[in-house]
Amino acid sequence: MKNENLSELFKVSAPKGAMSRRKALKLIGISPVAATVLASMGSGSVTDAQAVDVKGKILIVGGGSGAIMTLARLNRSISNPDITIIAPNETHLYQPGQVFVAAGLMKQEDLQKPNKDFIASNVNWIKDEVASFDPENKKVTTRGGQVVAYDFMIVATGVVNRFDKIKGLKEEDIGTNGITSVYLSDLEKGTARGATATWDWYNDLKAAAKIKRPTVLYTQPDSPIKCGGGPQKMLYLSADYLKEAGLSADYHFYTGLKNLFHLPKVDEELTKVQQSYDKIETKFSHFLRSIDVKAKEATFVHAYEKEVIDPDFGDKSMQSFADEVVVKYDFIHIVPPMTPPDALMKSNLLNDKGLDVDKNTLQHNKYKNIFGIGDVCGIPMGKTGGTARHQAPVVVGNLLAVMQGKELKENFDGYTVCPLKTQYGKILMAEFNYEGPKPTIPFLDYWKPRWMWWEFDRYMLELMYWHLMLRGLF
Ligand SMILES: Cc1cc2nc3c(=O)[nH]c(=O)nc-3n(C[C@H](O)[C@H](O)[C@H](O)COP(=O)(O)OP(=O)(O)OC[C@H]3O[C@@H](n4cnc5c(N)ncnc54)[C@H](O)[C@@H]3O)c2cc1C
Repeated sequence: MKNENLSELFKVSAPKGAMSRRKALKLIGISPVAATVLASMGSGSVTDAQAVDVKGKILIVGGGSGAIMTLARLNRSISNPDITIIAPNETHLYQPGQVFVAAGLMKQEDLQKPNKDFIASNVNWIKDEVASFDPENKKVTTRGGQVVAYDFMIVATGVVNRFDKIKGLKEEDIGTNGITSVYLSDLEKGTARGATATWDWYNDLKAAAKIKRPTVLYTQPDSPIKCGGGPQKMLYLSADYLKEAGLSADYHFYTGLKNLFHLPKVDEELTKVQQSYDKIETKFSHFLRSIDVKAKEATFVHAYEKEVIDPDFGDKSMQSFADEVVVKYDFIHIVPPMTPPDALMKSNLLNDKGLDVDKNTLQHNKYKNIFGIGDVCGIPMGKTGGTARHQAPVVVGNLLAVMQGKELKENFDGYTVCPLKTQYGKILMAEFNYEGPKPTIPFLDYWKPRWMWWEFDRYMLELMYWHLMLRGLF
């Protein structure tokens, strides 16, 4: 690759105007940077070159990123595999692409492929959902009433949106009355209604801003969500969409969290990003409790601590408060709380964060024949597809060890990646693990938004997802 191309890649500033898909692929495809990225992004902790001869019925529950990545690796790693997968979805949805659909750069159809392309014919695929788990007796029952026994189980159900936790809001309201949410999808059908509704919402917002400066709210719950950067991605992309048209709005970001990002350098940079837009006001420790759809009013709970002096004894102590704050809006982008699906909520497999697995081995803390992968895991971080990719070889390696009566050797380090879209054409690629920042390219300032990451995320990752990750090759 020529030097000028390399320096172009490392530039923080985006060249104005989007790069064509062909040019981006050509640039990335021939780039030594791409090779570095690919090599260092590969977790490489397990080599499944030699299939092992182990016995036992393996059940995988779920049909999304984590399930399919694990399935591909397991099927290759065992000489005579006996694998059943319970997954309702005929269509696989590339969920990260929903943000690009919401921003008008992709269509829903671009995110869909048949799940049968990734489930080998020797695998027993039950197209249903698990309705109840019975880990003591090593069996599950499906919604259709089928009882499925297993020796080893991998739970990969992801998490579900809980719009029902926001009083006054129904899923049908999304796409009406100025309300949207990029998170609204139907994973069973493989559709992304929220993403397409959000693109319409961007355009309604633009039309409204031509008449009068609208008030726009963006929310984030106080509990872990998949793609933790999602709420801010929608905020910055919509603000940039208006900015590009010479328009603006009063943007209000109400987040249940205490900062924009838990890594100080990223937090600082995102504060600068907010200042680059005309008037974004952020309120921390506010989570959405209810909404009045018709009146266009959102009620938040502001949770905080304050020093209180006892009137009788004069003692000082910190006490918790929760005030209600009512905010009027013209447009609102809602990110709901998320929990494991009902079947798991009713089981004894969870801790207070999700599936009760060891944060390093991903083995269930009580049932040693059970492992977890992906968003469902109740571990300190990592609800991203990138996390699942790093977890898959760990789960497979450790499951095979259990099956062989060996010691568990594979270790998940907490890797999580958050490609924060700060504007059209730029991404701040926040990568971290349990210890702190974990940039793929260590010599680049990981907190800087770069157009190179945009091109990589927009054009390269999707191809890698379908052709490498879901096939367990990367
Ligand atoms: C808007 C958005 C943007 C995102 N952007 C990014 C990004 O840029 N980068 C990134 O790395 N990640 C991103 N993610 C996150 C990423 O998509 C998830 O972290 C990833 O899909 C997690 O994989 P999973 O297997 O745990 O869950 P999922 O992929 O959600 O799959 C769960 C599967 O389990 C099935 N299921 C549920 N309940 C049951 C049951 N009871 N029985 C059987 N099956 C069941 C579901 O139908 C589904 O097939 C984004 C997500 C969203 C929503």
